[in-house]
Amino acid sequence: MLIKDSTSQTSFAQLATTGVVFDIQKFSVNDGPGVRTAVFMKGCQMKCVWCHNPESLSAQKQLAFNADKCVGCRHCEQVCPNNVHSFDAEGNHHVDFEACQTCGQCVDACMQDALKIYGKEMSVEQVFAEVIKDKVYFDKSGGGITLSGGEALKQFEFCLALAKMCKANGVHVCVETNGASKTDHYRTIAPYVDLFLFDYKATGDELHKTLTGMTRRLVDTNLQLLNEINSSVILRCPMIPGYNLSDDHFAAIAQLAKLMTNIQKVEVLPYHNFGKGKASEIGKTYGVDAKMPDDNEVNSWIASIKRYGEINVTLS
Ligand code: SF4
Ligand code: SF4
Repeated sequence: MLIKDSTSQTSFAQLATTGVVFDIQKFSVNDGPGVRTAVFMKGCQMKCVWCHNPESLSAQKQLAFNADKCVGCRHCEQVCPNNVHSFDAEGNHHVDFEACQTCGQCVDACMQDALKIYGKEMSVEQVFAEVIKDKVYFDKSGGGITLSGGEALKQFEFCLALAKMCKANGVHVCVETNGASKTDHYRTIAPYVDLFLFDYKATGDELHKTLTGMTRRLVDTNLQLLNEINSSVILRCPMIPGYNLSDDHFAAIAQLAKLMTNIQKVEVLPYHNFGKGKASEIGKTYGVDAKMPDDNEVNSWIASIKRYGEINVTLS
């Protein structure tokens, strides 16, 4: 296959941009239309209390330890140059995450797969080479690439170069975003993005700041910009029982969907606690104590939004 960049003149050798990627998930069906390859970038401006990818928050590579897999062989302790791994008299394994320099020696030494490093530096070329392998599936299903995270646009130059490369080669591009990157970044990348999966996390500045660490101001400015330049958006709404649900919230979602002609539909993302185990693996505490909703609750949220008018609302 002939691989082109956006101008068909720049060679891959000139695209030296690299990014820190923590996962590439193929055959994803929950990150935009069709069959997709989701590329998860490290780093995020927000700190959502329910974050389901806590390993994405830091922009740096980081060590993860799965205690359930550890058999206490102490090989990691023997190879680590920074004394990150230690064992107490009862044989309990302690990990000093702060001292880790992510050299990976303990990961190589562990025969139980109990250790891993989240984050790998990759070039645009390397990621694109992975993505383009599945073009036949994208074309058959209406799928493509989804740039996700973390907040993908925190690594803006990388995402811009990758989006340009994908567009030039006929790959549909989605960007999943918290909405809090620089406004200029949205304006610049928009011509190379077919669809933004744009989060709507909470209604009201105070609550938004409490739950995510940032007010709504920049997010609202960026959502408005995408409407002005007519970039397609799916509004993605995480629903966290006991945290962000209220009649005001449902009404605000409905109002946005009715006012902004670029919003194709609203997707409801029911709370799940997948982030809990991952937070523990990287030595962090998990900030939410919410119940996983049942189908009735999820349907009632969808109905609560639809109550305000003819709005396309689906489950993500
Ligand atoms: S990655 Fe390197 S520094 Fe970090 S715990 Fe393993 S051996 Fe030690
Ligand atoms: S090398 Fe792996 S299995 Fe052995 S003590 Fe370290 S983490 Fe546990």
